[in-house]
Amino acid sequence: MRRPLMAGNWKMYKTAAETAAFFEMFNPLVAHSTHCDIVICPPFPNLAAAVEATRGTRVEIGGQNLYWAKEGAYTGEVSGPMLAAVGAKWVIIGHSERRQYFGETDETVLKRTVAALGAGLKPIVCVGERLEEREAGQTEAVLRAQFAEGIAPLAPELFARIVIAYEPVWAIGTGRTATPEIASEAHRFLRAQVEARYGRAPAAQACILYGGSVKPDNIKGLMAQVDIDGVLVGGASLDAASFAAIVNF
Ligand code: PEP
Repeated sequence: MRRPLMAGNWKMYKTAAETAAFFEMFNPLVAHSTHCDIVICPPFPNLAAAVEATRGTRVEIGGQNLYWAKEGAYTGEVSGPMLAAVGAKWVIIGHSERRQYFGETDETVLKRTVAALGAGLKPIVCVGERLEEREAGQTEAVLRAQFAEGIAPLAPELFARIVIAYEPVWAIGTGRTATPEIASEAHRFLRAQVEARYGRAPAAQACILYGGSVKPDNIKGLMAQVDIDGVLVGGASLDAASFAAIVNF
């Protein structure tokens, strides 16, 4: 049985004080949510505040990106060991906003994933097609290429430690969520890619999240799909009541 994972991506929102206020409300709302794992990924400056605010709870904290070198002259970057040292357990890699605005490619996604695993972090590796790619009937070709180049080079023992997030770019921050059927179809396709590369058992065990305008009112339909193992939530994870409603779907 795959255990649901409910992850929040705060993007570039919230100060340290707002982070503490969020967890003051959120922690009691999910104190009994033992049916799933819960992760919040705040901006780098608030990781320490988030780790502190979730100490002794079941909520784990993650970064939103990392650089593949351990340290060095890379102004503005943050490494895996630094994230681990602050208490982060997870890291989002290859989010479409990183691909769109910061030149992330499948090649750099792979480097970051290897670095994250080397630092003992659990990577949430994002894939997903853009609107024009879906409209041109290229969804499967895009997912196949992102998987082949960004994920499949991982050795089986490394692959076993990652989570994949299917995030159709046209559904992120647009309020236009994929229907459970559309999401499910992409998840099935990705799981088939995993099976072709790693075999049946790893495919059955792979955790594949859906992300894209997940809200309290559409979470039930998404989580009812057998191939959807959890969600990566942007906007709706910023509000404690709203993200708690998603966690407690
Ligand atoms: C995201 O940032 O990964 C995301 C899915 O955003 P939203 O939920 O706001 O669409």
